[in-house]
Amino acid sequence: MTPSAARFAAIPQAGLFTADHAELRDVIRQWVRRALRPHAEEWERAGDFPYREVFREAGLVGIFGAKYEPRYGGTGPDLVADALITEELVGCGAGGVAAALGAHKDLGPYYVSRFGTEQQRQRYLIPAVAGERICALAVTEPGAGSDVAGIRTRAERIGGGGWRLSGTKTFITNGSIADFVVVAAKTEPEAGAHGISLFVVEAGTAGFSAQRLDMVGWRTSHTGELVFEGCEVPADALLGEEHQGFGHIMANFQWERIVMALAAVAAARATLDLAISYGRERKAFGRPVVKFQVWRHRLADLATEIEAARALTYHALRKIVAGEDAVREVSMAKWLATELDWKVADEALQMHGGYGYMMEYPVQRAWRDARLGPIGGGSTEIMKDIIGRSFGL
Ligand SMILES: Cc1cc2nc3c(=O)[nH]c(=O)nc-3n(C[C@H](O)[C@H](O)[C@H](O)COP(=O)(O)OP(=O)(O)OC[C@H]3O[C@@H](n4cnc5c(N)ncnc54)[C@H](O)[C@@H]3O)c2cc1C
Repeated sequence: MTPSAARFAAIPQAGLFTADHAELRDVIRQWVRRALRPHAEEWERAGDFPYREVFREAGLVGIFGAKYEPRYGGTGPDLVADALITEELVGCGAGGVAAALGAHKDLGPYYVSRFGTEQQRQRYLIPAVAGERICALAVTEPGAGSDVAGIRTRAERIGGGGWRLSGTKTFITNGSIADFVVVAAKTEPEAGAHGISLFVVEAGTAGFSAQRLDMVGWRTSHTGELVFEGCEVPADALLGEEHQGFGHIMANFQWERIVMALAAVAAARATLDLAISYGRERKAFGRPVVKFQVWRHRLADLATEIEAARALTYHALRKIVAGEDAVREVSMAKWLATELDWKVADEALQMHGGYGYMMEYPVQRAWRDARLGPIGGGSTEIMKDIIGRSFGL
């Protein structure tokens, strides 16, 4: 096998993707390579990126519209197209940029589309698809992450049919730059999971403030803590049915988790390529590192595991696209792929030796960025709990 043939092939079609999808993949890949990838190092060093400009350009390219009909500015609905966009965004080389664009693509606006009124879609979905308004989803709180039913943010009715929100949200992707936020709050505090509702809160509303958090990875992402202090919103800020917010969140979790699995597989593959390239060049005892049998076997193990994770992830995606119940498969794919991404990044860093520990080499970024996967969007422990319960255990 020639060295280039030994590199990982492009993601196989696996029966999911059509010729149109292949064309779209090419367009997105070219855009990512031209508009994002060249800036990854500079943006990482700055801990920021020109998000207004990037979101607008992403909107023009069609990054946010694959799930929606043309009347909302979309090109869909096509979940497979949306999935491949997720895979290609990973190629930008900065986990925080992919996370910012991905969270906007898959979280808040998708809630508006799925559960909102036509008026809310006109007001929020259309500018979100265009990349003109940035959105965040705020469920997690300082005291409740895995335990969604345990959130404490309160929404009380006020005169005129409006609502008053009080509480704090944390770890919210795009939270400190969002123009509007989909917020989960208790409307019936005694009813547990059955007392949660969703609201759209616009930036600039009195009583709503946000500040950016400093993170280990995803350094360019504006992940924020959001505070609602007597924040009053009108009656039409309610998104979806009153008290049905928990069900809405659980329904959308399936998409959030499958895109996390897709991104993790794509990232693991990219990191493995990085390790192989480095190991071919780097010599120890006069031999390229990849020529040591121990490394050849470890790389072979990882390549095999990536293919297995990809197959499971595509299987779960196929079930979602077919409208089937995919909770078990999505939960399996999410934990397997994100844990694998982290393992690949750790092995890749080890193969780099001391250089792997230097900020100058991109493998450190893959390592820091990958660590979030097994935590965010439902941790590995929660995924395994869901899988166990799906077997009646
Ligand atoms: C960078 C980043 C971005 C994020 N973006 C968003 C966002 O945009 N919107 C949003 O709403 N949230 C977001 N989150 C929050 C994320 O979803 C939560 O961090 C995650 O769900 C875990 O919740 P927690 O941090 O409160 O951990 P906890 O729930 O406190 O869990 C702590 C530990 O206990 C384990 N544990 C908890 N319950 C169980 C159980 N029943 N059985 C076994 N083990 C258990 C967990 O697995 C974990 O290891 C983000 C988080 C990060 C770090």
